[in-house]
Amino acid sequence: CGIVGYASSTLTACGKPLEVCLQGLERLEYRGYDSAGVALVAPGLDTVAWRKRAGRLSNLVESLEAHPLPEATAGIGHTRWATNGEPSDVNAHPHMSQDGKIGLIHNGIIENAAQLKFDLQTEGYSFVSSTDSEVVAKLLGKVANEIIERTGQPDLFEAMRRTARMLEGAFTLLAVDSRQPGIVVGARHDSPLVVGLSEGENFLGSDVAAFVAYTKEAMELGQDQAVCVSGDAVEVTDFDGNPVTDSKRFTVNWD
Ligand code: GLU
Repeated sequence: CGIVGYASSTLTACGKPLEVCLQGLERLEYRGYDSAGVALVAPGLDTVAWRKRAGRLSNLVESLEAHPLPEATAGIGHTRWATNGEPSDVNAHPHMSQDGKIGLIHNGIIENAAQLKFDLQTEGYSFVSSTDSEVVAKLLGKVANEIIERTGQPDLFEAMRRTARMLEGAFTLLAVDSRQPGIVVGARHDSPLVVGLSEGENFLGSDVAAFVAYTKEAMELGQDQAVCVSGDAVEVTDFDGNPVTDSKRFTVNWD
């Protein structure tokens, strides 16, 4: 239901990615939610570090205090409003790829999730939740690994575009990959995604409330567009990879 993302050019000593995610989720609480979670990546981490909990944001914060996450360069945070699968710890987002290298959050509903899940299960993928969103996480993981096998290089941005082309329904997606700890990638179709622009760090949100505490400079993502943000750059394309250069920029005039 609420989405926040953050990428910085340096490993911050003060846990900023987690701070930004939690602060953003708090600001998005007004939308209503039943669960919350975060996923972080950093150089040297072999898999995505994550925590998620059903219930109030304070449940997630308690869990983070009991089991702290490592320092990070990028992170994503989610509040869930369940559509497929009951509100529970396992159904909360983020969802992981099979190998744990990719973490994904999703707003919306994937209409062809049952068919995609069936195909993935036939190929040996296993599922822990009953959400449509985990199907996207497993699919994105598969596509990302196919790109690595073919080119020898990870390319989460391209994997996200290819995955988005296979989905039917409404979605805002954000993902992080432990093999590319400096970026967060996203995609949207019939569901909003906004970029927050700053120096040495950039933000993503389902609306500007997610990052308005940090920057007022924003950019709207158009229908069927994908985005890759690092600390120093924001790149937007359509789902076929064609660059988008006319994204609408605006300044938020409230706190
Ligand atoms: N359909 C997804 C789920 O039930 C996402 C719901 C949302 O937008 O929060 O987990």
